Amino acid sequence: MGLLLRLRETHEETERIKQYTAVGTDVGCAYCGESNYIPVRMDIENNFKCVVCEKENSVYVDITVARTTDIKSTRKSVKVNTNEESVSDDSRE
Ligand SMILES: [Zn+2]
Repeated sequence: MGLLLRLRETHEETERIKQYTAVGTDVGCAYCGESNYIPVRMDIENNFKCVVCEKENSVYVDITVARTTDIKSTRKSVKVNTNEESVSDDSRE
C-alpha cells in the first residue's frame, strides 16, 4: 500500500515538473494583434484563446537551426588575452 502511494506521488511530482519547465512566449493574436503570453509545448497543439477578443488562435512552432560558435577560432584570441607573452609568438605565424 505504502509503496503504491509513493509511486503515485512520484508520478504526480514528475507531471508537475513538466509543467514548470514548459516554455512560454508572447505571441500576437491573429485576429486583433493583442499580445498573449502562452505556454509552448512540443508534445501538444498550442492553440490558445485570445485574452481580449476571445477568438481561438492556432500556434505553429518554427524551429531554427544555427551553427554554434566555432571554438577553434576563438581559442587563439583567448590565449592572447590571458597570456601577453604569447602575443608575439602568435603574430609571427
Ligand atoms: Zn485577439
